[in-house]
Order: sequence, then C-alpha cells, then structure tokens
Amino acid sequence: MDIQKNLTYIRSILPDQITLLAISKTQKPEVILEAYHSGQRAFGENKAQELSLKYPVLPKDIEWHFVGHLQSNKIKTILPFVSLIQSIDSVKLLQVIDAESLKINKITNCLLQFHIASEETKYGFDLAEAVALFSSGVLTDLKNIRIRGVMGMATFTKDKEQVRKEFRSLKNIFDLLKKNYFPTQESFSILSMGMSEDYQVAIEEGSTLIRIGTSIFGNRISQ
Ligand SMILES: *Cc1c(COP(=O)(O)O)cnc(C)c1O
Repeated sequence: MDIQKNLTYIRSILPDQITLLAISKTQKPEVILEAYHSGQRAFGENKAQELSLKYPVLPKDIEWHFVGHLQSNKIKTILPFVSLIQSIDSVKLLQVIDAESLKINKITNCLLQFHIASEETKYGFDLAEAVALFSSGVLTDLKNIRIRGVMGMATFTKDKEQVRKEFRSLKNIFDLLKKNYFPTQESFSILSMGMSEDYQVAIEEGSTLIRIGTSIFGNRISQ
C-alpha cells in the first residue's frame, strides 16, 4: 500500500473546505507515521485503549478524533488529548464527558452520532431523541462540552441510492438542529459522513468531514 500516493489522490479530488480524517484503527504507529510524513495531521481511532497506547509514541501535533462506541469508564484515559469525540450516542455519555472535562478544565468538542443505516448494529440517536434532548434543557447545564455537529454511517451496501438517501437524511438532521438550536453558533459546523466506499456520495450530499481508513492504509489487520 502506497500511503503517500493514496493520500495525494484523495486530497486531489477533495473540495478545499472538506476535512480528511485518516482512520488509523488497527494500524501500527510506524504506518501512521508514514501518513504523518505525507502531511496528514488528523487521525481517528475507535478504541480508547488502542488510542491511549498510540498517543504517547506519536507526534504531539496530531489531532486525534474518537469515532467508536465509548464506554463511560474509558473516557478519562483519552480526554486530556482528544480533539473531537465524534461518537456521542447517549445523554449519559455527554454527562460523564462534561463532568470529567470540568475536572481537567477542558471544553470537549463532540458530535452527536445519528443512526441513519438500516442495520440494527449501529449506535446513535434518531431525530426524535435528539429533539427531546435539546428540548429537555439538560444540555444547558453541560458547560464543558461543545456540540460541533453530527456524525453518521450509511448502510454497508452496494446500493448507492440507499446510501445517498441516508446521507441526505443526516444532512437534513444537521440543518434542522442548526436552525433550531445553533442558529448563531459558528462552532456548530461539522457534518461527518463518508467512508472509503461512499465518500464521493457523502461529498455530493454536503459532508464537511470524511473518515477514510481502507483507501489510505489498505485492508485492516483483522483483530
Ligand atoms: C472504520 C471506520 C471508518 C473508516 O472505514 P473505511 O471503510 O476503512 O474507510 C470510518 N468511520 C468509522 C466510525 C469507522 O469505525
């Protein structure tokens, strides 16, 4: 796998305003460094333990994103250095992140994860749950989190029209939340959607951040 070549290709077709997040789960630090030396600075991991082992041995100007299901008891281990937690899938998780962030005097950037796929296995809110959360007023007490936008994963399918419909539904959720709850906050600006198989469709549907693993690093080492 020629990581530099892959990154150069993806960047060449990416509109300027879109962030490329390299998903480095299962990849060894020396492989991540190869991407780093090709200019990549934003990386995403989906296991807290794996991230906390990689963080100390890699350059400190890497911007680490967390994209996996996060258990409350693991938050502390990654909180001091994580830039964006993309996978908020419950109110309880937000509350624990807020409390732990307060202890270390940090405002933690978060995305709400939405369940847009037809598969049962994917975590996340639906629109009704999110509206209930915003209407409840719970969020106004959480001073140490900042909700920056939304994240979602489409169904794993070759049917591009289904994928497009799901991305479009996430864009609609983003627009609705922005209009009703963040009308003047420029910080609510991230629509994280698109992976190796579907990022072109995601870009067409308004993505601002794509999360790419396989198309940069090749197939993952199975775990
Ligand atoms: C693994 C993963 C990706 C990247 O998937 P690829 O198909 O390898 O590009 C993106 N987002 C999340 C949440 C992931 O877990």
